Amino acid sequence: MKRILEDLAGFGGAPAFESPLKVGAPNIGDRRRFSARLDAAFDRGWLSNGGPLVEEFERRVARTAGTPYAMATCNATAALQLVLRAAGLTGEVIVPSLTFAATAHAVSWVGLTPVFCDVDPGTGQIAPDHVESLIGPRTSGILAVHLWGRAAPAERLEAIARRHGLALFFDASHAFACTAAGGRPVGSLGDAEVFSFHSTKFVNAFEGGAITTGSEALARRLGALRNFGLTGENDVSWVGINAKMSEASGAMGLTSLDSVGEFVARNLANYRHYQAWLADVDGIRLIPFDERERNNYQYVIVEVDEERAGVGRDSLRHLLHQENVLAQRYFTPGCHQMAPYRGTAGLPGTEHLSARVLALPTGMGVTQEQVAEICQIIRLVVVNSQAISAREPVEAGAR
Ligand SMILES: *Cc1c(COP(=O)(O)O)cnc(C)c1O
Repeated sequence: MKRILEDLAGFGGAPAFESPLKVGAPNIGDRRRFSARLDAAFDRGWLSNGGPLVEEFERRVARTAGTPYAMATCNATAALQLVLRAAGLTGEVIVPSLTFAATAHAVSWVGLTPVFCDVDPGTGQIAPDHVESLIGPRTSGILAVHLWGRAAPAERLEAIARRHGLALFFDASHAFACTAAGGRPVGSLGDAEVFSFHSTKFVNAFEGGAITTGSEALARRLGALRNFGLTGENDVSWVGINAKMSEASGAMGLTSLDSVGEFVARNLANYRHYQAWLADVDGIRLIPFDERERNNYQYVIVEVDEERAGVGRDSLRHLLHQENVLAQRYFTPGCHQMAPYRGTAGLPGTEHLSARVLALPTGMGVTQEQVAEICQIIRLVVVNSQAISAREPVEAGAR
């Protein structure tokens, strides 16, 4: 454990970790089971187009989501595009700005206009009152996000969507195997929800996504749209695209699903360690999970209050990177401040949080001892913040 300022890598010490600790290092599971599944696919000579691995993956995703239908896709970005298109949305779709760019891109890519709404600066979740204030004659839907695997205020959003006759979707990329709104499975909210199984996510399929819905009509249309619009051997009924999941991804997804219990247990243990070790560090607030819900604990997010911590988010990140702790700014800036979307009025909650949040490493590649060491570095930085800014003025935004 580092004890004094000079132990920090930026001040003459050796980096705390020999190899980098990353946010979103893949959770793999039992790789022999993956290989066995892949071998079986080779033996069948069936590598894509709704093979048995993808079908089994869909059944298990649907069970977790509590929905009758789960449609697997090549990734979540394509899944978002498919669902917006399948639902026939037009004009404007309201999306939170504090999310990964893919949420907004999916809206734009299908010819719709993303209208950015603000988030609650305490939780980072979409602010329903602001959503409602943005509804206009061209609005056709709301695409909410369960940011960092914490639940969006689903009941409020469902009431707003009902009142205004809007479609409601959730980007649930962060929230597989979670619940919301008093124990309802994420996946079963709104008209449909979209999961990502990219390798950085809680469940990994190399690349992959899924749409879960209770609507048979929507599921049937999605099934055709992701496969060139085919509804029979030679019947093309829609302008479809190729967004199918491959059997290799199905094999990885199933293998990852087999180990979900272990992944949650590790993430939860790490989260508890972060909670305990950061509880009394001034100006560092761990964004909590709602313990009444089921959580995957995949995203450990701290908010850095520069006035109290004596160190800004970007300086802290720089000092952590020198220790080989590759903390990430999830998400900076908000989409409304990215080049393709500039021009939206200010969103104070989003701008406040996006300047202060930092995602810290967790997952199967991170042990509780390592969490303790990471927290000790953060504590050392905060305790020595005056000396640090006097001795090495770290420029804002340093990488
Ligand atoms: C990762 C992510 C996506 C995109 O998922 P892909 O499967 O990589 O396309 C979309 N939205 C959010 C919030 C994400 O974190």
